[in-house]
Amino acid sequence: MRKPIIAGNWKMFKTVEEAKAFAQEVRGKAEVAGVDTVICAPFTQLASLVDALKGSSIGVGAQNMHWAENGAYTGEISGTMLQETGVKYVIIGHSERRAYFAETDETVNKKVLAAFQYNLTPIVCVGENLEEREGGQTKDVCKTQTEAALQGLSAAQAAQVVIAYEPIWAIGTGKSSTAEDANDVIAYIRELVKGQFGEETAAAVRIQYGGSVKPGNIREYMQMSDIDGALVGGASLEPASFIELVEGAR
Ligand code: 13P
Repeated sequence: MRKPIIAGNWKMFKTVEEAKAFAQEVRGKAEVAGVDTVICAPFTQLASLVDALKGSSIGVGAQNMHWAENGAYTGEISGTMLQETGVKYVIIGHSERRAYFAETDETVNKKVLAAFQYNLTPIVCVGENLEEREGGQTKDVCKTQTEAALQGLSAAQAAQVVIAYEPIWAIGTGKSSTAEDANDVIAYIRELVKGQFGEETAAAVRIQYGGSVKPGNIREYMQMSDIDGALVGGASLEPASFIELVEGAR
């Protein structure tokens, strides 16, 4: 059985003080047996969040990393630096990074490989935009992105990756995918993993849905056969809503 995983992606929101206050409010509450909980925050908040959540089961993640150990890469953060903060997860290839910061399938792959070098669990995002959706290309896009992202991993590593299927048209729009549609694409992504790494890996890899997930619809997704949790933006910013999301994944 795959353990559900609920991850909040705060994007570019909250100050350190706000992050610490959030941690105090969700400690002991967004912790439910049988569910993994993660908060992915901006770099400046990571060390304080790890500290504020010490002794709790809530994991902390970054939202990006560079693949190099160090070097002349102004403005970037390496895996070593992330490891030092104590984070355990890192989002890689979010559609906002692909769209606004020129991330490609190739850089996503480099980052996924680097994440394992530093013992970080990558949460790899894939998903189609509206035009691709309407053009019937959803599965083609997911195939290209998923296979490229996981290239070069061992089967054991691939089994540890968290994949987030986030259709771009559903992000921040309030227009979520139906649970059935999301499950269909996610089952297809699992088939891709099977083709690339075999049945055992496909059965183990956790695949989340993301895109306008809220306390009011989380249960619909969690009832689906292949959906193992959610990557949540807007609804992860308020403690009460975040706690409800985690409870909804039980
Ligand atoms: P929303 O939950 O705000 O739609 O954002 C989804 C997302 O991009 C999470 O990474």
